[in-house]
Amino acid sequence: MGIKVGIDLGTTYSAVAVMDESRGRPQIVPNTLGERITPSFLQFTEDGGVVVGTEAKEAFEAGEPGCASVFKRSMGSGEAYCTFYGKTYTAEDLSAILLRHLREEAERVTRQTIDEAVVTVPAYFYHRERQATLSAAKKAGLRVRQLINEPTAAAMNYGADHWRENARVLVYDLGGGTFDVTLVEMRAGNRMETLQTTGDHTLGGKDWDARAAALLEARIEEETGLSAKDSPALRQLVSRSAESVKRQLTSCSTASVRLDLPGYGKYTALVTLEEFERCTGDLLERTGALCESLLRGLAITWRDVTDVLLVGGSTRMRQVSSYLKRISGHTPLSQVNPDEAVALGAAIQACLPLPEYSVIAMQPPGGKGEPPASPVLPFRKPAGEKRFLPGPVGRETPLANALTMRHADVVAHAMGVIAVNAAGTAYINKTIVPANQRIPVKCAEAFHFYTSSHGDNELEIYVLQGTKPPLECHIIGKYVVSGIRHDRRANPAVIRIQYSYDASGMVHVQARQGDGEADLPIREEPVPRDMSRFGRPIDPAERTPAAEPLSLVLAVDVSGSMRGGPIRDALRAMCHFADSFDDYPGDVRIGVIAVSDKSLIVQPLTDDLNRCRESIRSITCGMTGNNNYAHPFDDLRAMLDDRPGRRMGIVLADGVWAHQDEAVRAAKACHRRQIDIAGVGFGSADESFLRKISSGDVRSMLVKQSELERSFGRIAQEIGAGRQGKTGRAGGETGTATWLAVSER
Ligand code: ADP
Ligand code: MG
Repeated sequence: MGIKVGIDLGTTYSAVAVMDESRGRPQIVPNTLGERITPSFLQFTEDGGVVVGTEAKEAFEAGEPGCASVFKRSMGSGEAYCTFYGKTYTAEDLSAILLRHLREEAERVTRQTIDEAVVTVPAYFYHRERQATLSAAKKAGLRVRQLINEPTAAAMNYGADHWRENARVLVYDLGGGTFDVTLVEMRAGNRMETLQTTGDHTLGGKDWDARAAALLEARIEEETGLSAKDSPALRQLVSRSAESVKRQLTSCSTASVRLDLPGYGKYTALVTLEEFERCTGDLLERTGALCESLLRGLAITWRDVTDVLLVGGSTRMRQVSSYLKRISGHTPLSQVNPDEAVALGAAIQACLPLPEYSVIAMQPPGGKGEPPASPVLPFRKPAGEKRFLPGPVGRETPLANALTMRHADVVAHAMGVIAVNAAGTAYINKTIVPANQRIPVKCAEAFHFYTSSHGDNELEIYVLQGTKPPLECHIIGKYVVSGIRHDRRANPAVIRIQYSYDASGMVHVQARQGDGEADLPIREEPVPRDMSRFGRPIDPAERTPAAEPLSLVLAVDVSGSMRGGPIRDALRAMCHFADSFDDYPGDVRIGVIAVSDKSLIVQPLTDDLNRCRESIRSITCGMTGNNNYAHPFDDLRAMLDDRPGRRMGIVLADGVWAHQDEAVRAAKACHRRQIDIAGVGFGSADESFLRKISSGDVRSMLVKQSELERSFGRIAQEIGAGRQGKTGRAGGETGTATWLAVSER
């Protein structure tokens, strides 16, 4: 049996760690040179070989050819990163080479094989970057158990040695190219929870380097008259020394670099810490603003934070600690080695059980408040989600064994899909999973999918990360659901799409039809290059797919039990329901039946919806008797039997009917004739009866009296009334009829 390791795949340095079971603590696995961290540098040689680590870093600093570095920043771009000796490499290829080297070195040093690895990524990595990391690891011959966010890993490593119940640790991770800030909380039972994470993908040590370079350039110009603007060679020379200036200033108050300037000769430039701090203050403030926005997101202040933990090589800059102390009032912790903490935490995670999925309901449109109680969502609501537990902070007691820890992480980016707005005029980004949701998590959505006369239908789903309008987000994938079965009786077909974020923060999409057991096939297609149509208003022609004729019969229970509030609310809901067909794009007819001891056609099918509403308003309780001896299904069938297009009956009842078996038999006769029945019950209605008369579970619903209107609204939506829940046509990209799933609650 082999070992499980944690790997910090850093932009500038990488490290490998493994759990030392006897100590209950992780430890670094040095490379064969005895170095605890390995520079993330490669040098390709002319003979087709590649050198990894310190030697490559030195070659790079000496300006030798064939060197590659900082490729982590380009992960997932899919573009060529560099070409050496006729071969082109993507960032993923380069990472794979680095990871293979790390694996082989660790296997040599430990004399064990590596079974599984937990690889770290910046919390702010999007799906694609994570995907590229995973596939690089695979190419390197590693089995990845999970990806874990770098700040999370650092916090776990810290937590093992400094466990204090209710401590809230702000992890400030400033690396070479990215900045992440994360708040974690230590809870009872050795549970560590990430509460929130945010960051900036484009802010890191390199920005301080760039400022140091600018300082140097100005100094050189001032003192020698040489301008880097006109001399790429000078600029390159300066930019190579910039990092050294920055590093010197972590231990001295003046940095000096000796340069051999082209056309000038030897020159020594001096830069003071004060100058450097002055010209980089705004960068620190950007990190501070992100910390504060994170606290705001949790509705807490710096006072609620108990510790500030520094991670990432750039936090060695002196001004980072002093700045954080100034804004937070806490002296940042430096007990952890910022170069090693991340790999150590990953090694702990590598030996912990994988966390379980939680299930959340669809996001309500406003993003806040109760999610709608939808009869088509089979999943439970999130368990009382508490984001922040204030409480007294316990005494520090290091965990006897780091493996007693459990950790729940969150995802930095919201997941959304491209949908159509309620007015049907524009594409929007509809959030499925909000940012900072605990992962792994699943969320399901039901789409109503209409039979197309073109036959072979497919459903396209564009998944996004972020909350901005679609084209400003990361479009992470185009998922095409196929194999949708069409059945006139169940038209629209109900397709349940399940979106998930796994423990690695990767997005997955699955689809099922109705209550079916098996998943529908989904293929991932490249996102079209031209997505501009999602930024334009929706073409009215596209907006209104010719709808098939629709005939609806509303049957309402008018027995004595409906008297008063119930009948009033029922009739109001029915009128509203009729309203939603006012601009239905096809021929629509509505009829009305009142039923109790008799069934009475109050309104034969009519396309005059005003007349229909009047008829609804004329209904009174008891008009056909006070008990429920009758059922409406024979009349309903007679009204709908010869109608073309879609036929549907909606039956509203508040209690139990006397002759249920007869009613069910007659309802089934409707089903056989492809007349859809939806049973809506409230009060003491019998759920199993409703289910029997309805054409499927989806169409039966037991609701509160106060929710009648909403339930009718949902049925209207399902049928395609109003703008909501409608399917729109996507551009004929595939030749066959392809449909874009668009819906908004
Ligand atoms: P990543 O995880 O992105 O590889 P690291 O956490 O390894 O990044 O940090 C690398 C960054 O830290 C680089 O920008 C490097 O210049 C900076 N850095 C490393 N050591 C020092 C130091 N002593 N002083 C200032 N910056 C440093
Ligand atoms: Mg790092």
